Amino acid sequence: MVTGPLNEMLARNSKWAQTYQAPPGLIQMATALRETGAGVVVLSCSDPRLNPYQVLGLDPTLKATMVRNAGGRAFDAIRTLAALQTIGRPGTIAVMHHTDCGMTHFHDDAIKKALIELAPEVKESIEASKFGEITGS
Ligand SMILES: [Zn+2]
Repeated sequence: MVTGPLNEMLARNSKWAQTYQAPPGLIQMATALRETGAGVVVLSCSDPRLNPYQVLGLDPTLKATMVRNAGGRAFDAIRTLAALQTIGRPGTIAVMHHTDCGMTHFHDDAIKKALIELAPEVKESIEASKFGEITGS
């Protein structure tokens, strides 16, 4: 049985699907974007308080692709950004950070310690990882 937030999202999806109309195909859109350079990528933090669509007034006419991760860190998004360069070759990549970001409060050492407590069997992998802490001013 599905409960909690997933149940709520499934109910909202059912309502949304009643009026859904499929957008143009990806290949058609990507071809047009490559030709014009009109594609936009926004890299931002995944913090749910930050809504880049609202903040930047994004709507479907801008063909903006959203890439989000903890802290809006480029090193964590490189694979996706590289793939997007081959698909739509966006002419604009915007990086959007925000105040009171969690990655200014939760630094790599604390994240690693907590993860090792959860999964000590992969301690070496965790210790070798970077989680995108934001330090300094
Ligand atoms: Zn953040």
